[in-house]
Amino acid sequence: MKTKVMKFGGSSVSNAVNISKVIAIVSRSLNKDTGVVVVVSAFGGVTDELIELAKLASQKDFRYKALLQKIYKRHDQAIKELIKPKFRQKMLIGAKGRYDDLEKIIKKIFVYPQLSKASLDAVMSFGEQLSAYIINEAMRDTGLSSKFVDTRDLIKTDDNFGNANVDIETSYKSIRNHLQNRGESRYSLAVTGGFIGSTKDSVTTTLGRGGSDYSAALMGAALDAIVIEIWTDVDGLMTADPRVVKSAKTIPEISYAKAEAMALAGAKVIHPKTIEPARLKNIPIYVKNTFNKDNPGTLIKN
Ligand code: ADP
Ligand code: ASP
Ligand code: MG
Repeated sequence: MKTKVMKFGGSSVSNAVNISKVIAIVSRSLNKDTGVVVVVSAFGGVTDELIELAKLASQKDFRYKALLQKIYKRHDQAIKELIKPKFRQKMLIGAKGRYDDLEKIIKKIFVYPQLSKASLDAVMSFGEQLSAYIINEAMRDTGLSSKFVDTRDLIKTDDNFGNANVDIETSYKSIRNHLQNRGESRYSLAVTGGFIGSTKDSVTTTLGRGGSDYSAALMGAALDAIVIEIWTDVDGLMTADPRVVKSAKTIPEISYAKAEAMALAGAKVIHPKTIEPARLKNIPIYVKNTFNKDNPGTLIKN
């Protein structure tokens, strides 16, 4: 069976309406010959809020409590809109378990004077942990047999917290062990969070801001995917940031080298580390728009 990796960024998964669009896009990619690994970011803006949360707690600023409630409410709201009543309560309890884990870490940060990079990574990881949990269940709710995989079991890194370096060989082995198709249809769709990993002692790390694109490329390369798709909120890699330059145009096709140079120069639509794993395996990367799904977007290739 062939594998396709599809990564959806923060704006693509910012609320229930957008997550439903994502599910529709994934559904039409699935068929008897093609399995899909979905890599998701945190709901849009949540990573920034989690950083703010950790900072407030470390400064003993009680406003952290309101921010925690805001984060809980947003995820609970998505569950309420996406999950049928029959399964909703169980999902809300599952989310609550994760909120409790986050709160335990925040309370420790509140007590200790210095906010360590390791603690910040632990806090940031809840964005992707929650989004992957919710999106996987939302997929199942529509009848897809999707399985949740904790990325921290797949992406193994050193302890350079905040911008951890990936141990490629170990990670590829774990990715294959957890995700390689075993000829069973229930393994043909998996949902996992981007951006996060763990050390060999299973301490949570992050890959650097915007790192979910890189996670997707690692999954794709490990699984010899036929394609890596980066789904975002613009029509592909463009001649300039369309938010700044109104006349920016989509680049239909570009080489790995040129795309990497653009990413390094600040084209945030794709994280610079994304290119290398794909290039080494000659896997095409498509950059596409969740909100304009039939637009061809950009093809990055040799
Ligand atoms: P995601 O949440 O999907 O990962 P990002 O916000 O990380 O999305 O990246 C998408 C954004 O990158 C776009 O909304 C756009 O404003 C910005 N961007 C900057 N430079 C470029 C470029 N050259 N081409 C396309 N988008 C760009
Ligand atoms: N959620 C992370 C961030 O905001 C990773 C990502 O979106 O790629 O940086
Ligand atoms: Mg991004």
